[in-house]
Amino acid sequence: YLDQITFYVCCLRSCYTIFSVLSQSTTKLFIDGKFVESKSPEWLDIHNPATNEVIGRVPKATHEEMLAAVDSCSRAYHTWSETSILARQQIFLRYQQLIKDNIKELAKLITLEQGKTLADAEGDVFRGLQVVEHTCSITSLMLGETLPSITKDMDTYTFRMPIGVCAGIAPFNFPAMIPLWMFPMGMVCGNTYLLKPSERVPGCAMMLAKLLQDAGAPDGTLNIIHGQHDAVNFICDHPAIKAISFVGSNQAGEYIYERGSKNGKRVQSNMGAKNHGVVMPDANKENTLNQLVGAAFGAAGQRCMALSTAVLVGEARNWLPELVERAKGLRVNAGDQPGADVGPLISPQAKERVNSLIQSGVDEGAKVLLDGRNVKVKGYENGNFVGPTIVSNVTPDMKCYKEEIFGPVLVVLEADSLDDAIKIVNKNPYGNGTAIFTTNGAAARKYTHEVDVGQIGVNVPIPVPLPMFSFTGSRASFRGDTNFYGKQGIQFYTQIKTVTSQWKAEDASLKSPAVTMPT
Ligand code: NAD
Repeated sequence: YLDQITFYVCCLRSCYTIFSVLSQSTTKLFIDGKFVESKSPEWLDIHNPATNEVIGRVPKATHEEMLAAVDSCSRAYHTWSETSILARQQIFLRYQQLIKDNIKELAKLITLEQGKTLADAEGDVFRGLQVVEHTCSITSLMLGETLPSITKDMDTYTFRMPIGVCAGIAPFNFPAMIPLWMFPMGMVCGNTYLLKPSERVPGCAMMLAKLLQDAGAPDGTLNIIHGQHDAVNFICDHPAIKAISFVGSNQAGEYIYERGSKNGKRVQSNMGAKNHGVVMPDANKENTLNQLVGAAFGAAGQRCMALSTAVLVGEARNWLPELVERAKGLRVNAGDQPGADVGPLISPQAKERVNSLIQSGVDEGAKVLLDGRNVKVKGYENGNFVGPTIVSNVTPDMKCYKEEIFGPVLVVLEADSLDDAIKIVNKNPYGNGTAIFTTNGAAARKYTHEVDVGQIGVNVPIPVPLPMFSFTGSRASFRGDTNFYGKQGIQFYTQIKTVTSQWKAEDASLKSPAVTMPT
């Protein structure tokens, strides 16, 4: 009987597995106002990073589906670009309210697919929501310029006009904020939008699309395709797409910038980072250590503005033991568990890469003061967890300093003076963000003026600008010449028409042809 029972148990198990595979949700495409199932033969699994269980599947959209999405954008552009600016503003006013009303649901989805803690996931939505709120000022943001009487009876004025179909390619680490940097800015200016979310976290973008539809966005104004390289190449090559916003790694961002620009498109590429926190010995110790720990290990270090490198100046090097104590206090757990501070990394490959970069530091002579490589999380033994890790005695030639780690790892360098610290920061190729911790105004001013980094915090560890400013990462962290959101975002998504007009009284008309250049 035992064999028979084993046989039946096996059958039941297979039935259960098949049932659970079939019942796993599939991510839809959003084409022409409809959420449609892809006909693609190629699908990717979506995992919960805290357990590595498969929680859904996302298609690699077929060529025909991608064409249908762009065609829908192109058709919708004719009417959307002519829609009154007040009508577009009303849609985004409703949209910001719908996002607010659904912030908890969006956050749950982010935690499930991306892993970050629920509180942090709400922050992710909130920072994107602020951009949507800012789009509601479009009636002021899109104003042109006028100059009357540039010569007799002649006035010049400019219009800001939309540019056409725009596209966004998003990374995994901010499933709400970064798509919300993209399509609301593009659309409110009168463009239509094709979005390709990260294939690892597509759910949140789909919910954002549904809310936008509920807010009244007409069919075709936003289309969503899924996929990887083919979808990216399609976006870079399709002639109807006039502009591409990309956020992600340097490898992809450089490639997209080159390929898109060669095809005559505007491209803005926000890419990787290595952000330094310079700690002066006169800094407020309590505040500084807490800020450093929060900014290095929050979101498991998977933020492009994470403070992943500390530069301790002079006597501040003696603060290391206390820094380690504070980092030890953080709780590593699944993002939906109460009290979790540090969630899992996105994938087992990301975990392996982070662990190997820590090991490379050890091999090159650095010291691991706090080692999160063997962290165990009860009930989530299969998750991609790495605990807070602090690596000291790091020098600029080490691999763990040169590469973006993108995990909960703080590498620590030492400097004898502020000048030496500035040299270190400026020698690093990335220019996304940095912070100085000091109580000395002159040191802060010197740092902000001499450091070649696009976003600087003074006693502020993650200086991501609010949307009335722009996200101004620089050097190897950015390709393009017009940044994301704020005034620069409006510039990116509009082109200028300049009108020069002359209205003369009938009797002042020219008596003969004017063949010389008008002066
Ligand atoms: P990623 O580059 O792997 O993926 C980003 C997007 O590009 C995805 O949609 C993906 O499908 C696509 N893609 C990936 N590899 C590609 C390739 N070889 N060719 C063409 N397309 C490709 O980035 P990620 O891992 O999702 O995100 C993490 C990276 O994003 C980090 O480097 C981080 O610093 C960076 N980031 C930068 C900012 C910023 O504002 N500077 C913000 C967030 C994240």
